[in-house]
Amino acid sequence: MKIYVNKKTAKAHEASTEKWRLIARGEGRDKGRQNCALCRLFNRLACGCRPCTLALYGAGCTEEGSPFDRWYDHQCRDHFGYSSPRTPGCTTCTALAEAMYQHMLEVGRCLIVVPGLRKNYAEKGIA
Ligand SMILES: [Zn+2]
Repeated sequence: MKIYVNKKTAKAHEASTEKWRLIARGEGRDKGRQNCALCRLFNRLACGCRPCTLALYGAGCTEEGSPFDRWYDHQCRDHFGYSSPRTPGCTTCTALAEAMYQHMLEVGRCLIVVPGLRKNYAEKGIA
């Protein structure tokens, strides 16, 4: 899959990838939208998250849900919910944060930066 993005989006994807790398190493926290560069870019738009790289990638969702869904569910089920500070608190947290980091890298490999592009879009095709 190819995802065509502008420079701003590519930078935000990079920043969010770094966020998850740090969380997986126990050095970062997941503060949801507050410290997600992609959310900051897209969450306020009327069209919502559709231009977000993760939304354009779509899949990444297994039967158990996307890596983020699994992380979210784990925080709610086994810790203090998603509103408390999300720092890896157990080995499952670490594994799920690592899976999210790998997912970010995977999506990042699909990105094709087109300077000046107004709308991000995905095209399924030969990689
Ligand atoms: Zn945990």
